[in-house]
Amino acid sequence: MTDQRCFILQVAVAAPLPELFDYLPPPQSTAPVLIGMRVLVPFGRSQRVGIIVAIAPASELTPDRLKPITQLLDTQPLLTAADISFLLWSAKYYRGFPGEAVFSALPTRLRRADRSINPPAPAIESTAIESSAIESTPIELPTLNTEQSAAIAAIHNQSGFNCFLLDGVTGSGKTEVYLRLIATTLARGGQVLVLVPEIGLTPQLQRRFTQRLNTPIAVIHSNLTANSRELAWWQVVRGTAGVLLGTRSAVFTPIPKLALVIVDEEHDVSLKQQDGWRYSARDLAVRRAQLADCPVILGSATPALESLRNAQLGRYHHLLLPRRAGTARSPQLVIADLRTQPVTTGLSHALLTRMETELNCGNQVLLFLNRRGFAPVLTCHQCNWLSNCPRCDVKLTVHRDIERLMCHHCGFSRPIPTLCPDCGGTDLRPLGQGTERVADYLRRRFPDCPIGRIDRDSTRRKGELERLLTAARLGEYPILLGTQMLAKGHHLPGVTLVGILSLDQGLHGVEFRATERMAQLLVQVAGRAGRAARAGTVLLQTRYPEHPLLLALLQQGYAGFAAQALIEREAAQLPPFSYQALLRADSRTSETAMEFLQQAATVAPALGAAELWGPAPAPLERRAARYRAQLLLQAPSRQIVQTVLNEWLPRVRDLNYPSQLRWSVDVDPQEGV
Ligand code: ADP
Ligand code: ZN
Ligand code: ZN
Repeated sequence: MTDQRCFILQVAVAAPLPELFDYLPPPQSTAPVLIGMRVLVPFGRSQRVGIIVAIAPASELTPDRLKPITQLLDTQPLLTAADISFLLWSAKYYRGFPGEAVFSALPTRLRRADRSINPPAPAIESTAIESSAIESTPIELPTLNTEQSAAIAAIHNQSGFNCFLLDGVTGSGKTEVYLRLIATTLARGGQVLVLVPEIGLTPQLQRRFTQRLNTPIAVIHSNLTANSRELAWWQVVRGTAGVLLGTRSAVFTPIPKLALVIVDEEHDVSLKQQDGWRYSARDLAVRRAQLADCPVILGSATPALESLRNAQLGRYHHLLLPRRAGTARSPQLVIADLRTQPVTTGLSHALLTRMETELNCGNQVLLFLNRRGFAPVLTCHQCNWLSNCPRCDVKLTVHRDIERLMCHHCGFSRPIPTLCPDCGGTDLRPLGQGTERVADYLRRRFPDCPIGRIDRDSTRRKGELERLLTAARLGEYPILLGTQMLAKGHHLPGVTLVGILSLDQGLHGVEFRATERMAQLLVQVAGRAGRAARAGTVLLQTRYPEHPLLLALLQQGYAGFAAQALIEREAAQLPPFSYQALLRADSRTSETAMEFLQQAATVAPALGAAELWGPAPAPLERRAARYRAQLLLQAPSRQIVQTVLNEWLPRVRDLNYPSQLRWSVDVDPQEGV
């Protein structure tokens, strides 16, 4: 390296700003200055931490405007140039800040200046250490069936970057396929990144991985302590852990020998970050595999329409596992028409009758109701008063166990009134039902059957979800009742009947993905039934048994539904047949938010093939006392969306608007459209 003063350091500063900043190297020091090292830099009137992302021969700034960095914080780089290029690409595509993106690859402790890079001492609580300490017991591997073998062969037959959509019904042995591929990758000295949408799914997968794979499994998700996460981070970065299992932010972890990427439940919206920097961990995982030139596997029983479209176009290899592995059989789907039979507390006569039969045979029944609490609204029978949230456009939910009315959107709560706040009447009635109310009723109806209720309220205590699920697996609860927490990924071998209390909201949702989400949820819940030797039945209660998409789903399964939904999307030119970005604004008044977006629309550059829709109020306009509006950019290609945003966003940033107004961009939005 030549004279240090002859080059410029480009630094991503930990600040919410879209630019990189140029600094001079430290004047006195002769220590090596490398890309990926952290630095302390003068910034405005304060000092900030940053990371060197590039070293350039010259700056566009005049020399008198350049300042030297205050301090070099590391003696060796924490990130490689390749890591940095992925992180900056992510920030650019999803319109995050470079500093935010680069620091999201580091454990929280290393985002601060006063910390050295020495790994922390191992603590007892660390999941990473725990899992590596467990002896892997030799267990008998199942013999792969034809489809599993074919999928594995197809993946092994390709080299370098390739994307595989592993489209396999629930219980078809996708995880078994992952395990075999991971084992091969580890044997060749590679590391594997496995992303899952939910924290709840990690302990189960972690257990299976630990039993089968001869490597420490590093786990990273937001429910772990910072210390555990950091230990896991070091295990991955040092290469001692062969597998990193994590939720969406784990996609940013540096993995020196990355040779395989797996995204399980790839359709799940939880893989998209919904606030701050709105990135899709699934799509970034694909990008990351591309940069690492390794295979990526997207697994699901209900692939996103985007992924199916990519498979149709030949961008992804479509691998099918159409039947259940081993001896398990697929469940039978039955409809219960809610319009033509008595319904008690949301439970149809048909469902209650079947429950009785199954419970009498000692079988397990799972009921799905995507609504927690006792009832979704309290009303006054005398004056029709409704329990509205004072801060949002929604009703307050009645929670009997804590005797409060609660808003599920902003957290507002108040005691359940005994008198009507409007007319003083005493006849207040909860309308409709949530899991609490259904559980109450079932306790009276089936007094000998303990009920396992699984929703956010019943699992608030740490470890409670795991405890309930384990007890459920062991058959301690003949009746299981839950929200979508119960729908995903959990293996419940004793369940022979699944009752879906209602999915009708999904058939008439305002968002264009509502039916897709409904179909995915239905198939996921249905997949809990009959996973072991016993066949299962899924009973779906609905008021719309003739809905065409519902019929397609019932008669032809998810693939039939998806085929039809894709035709509708194409006719409407909606994603995946177009690409979107959403400009959102929220403010204390509806007018301010709308006016800001109106102004934003007027400074939009030439749109070409793109279109702007709106501004319009968001689907739930008032939330937490703020009014939300949005402006939709839609175009026939990603490239056009990006080109428009490149020109447009700097102009939006320069608009005049009140400081209380907030705005954000969501590229490839999954919610609100
Ligand atoms: P998925 O991930 O698709 O839901 P899993 O891999 O969890 O499916 O497999 C479901 C069950 O079937 C598991 O208990 C698994 O051990 C078992 N299994 C998987 N593949 C086979 C096979 N080829 N033969 C027998 N059992 C299998
Ligand atoms: Zn009243
Ligand atoms: Zn509210």
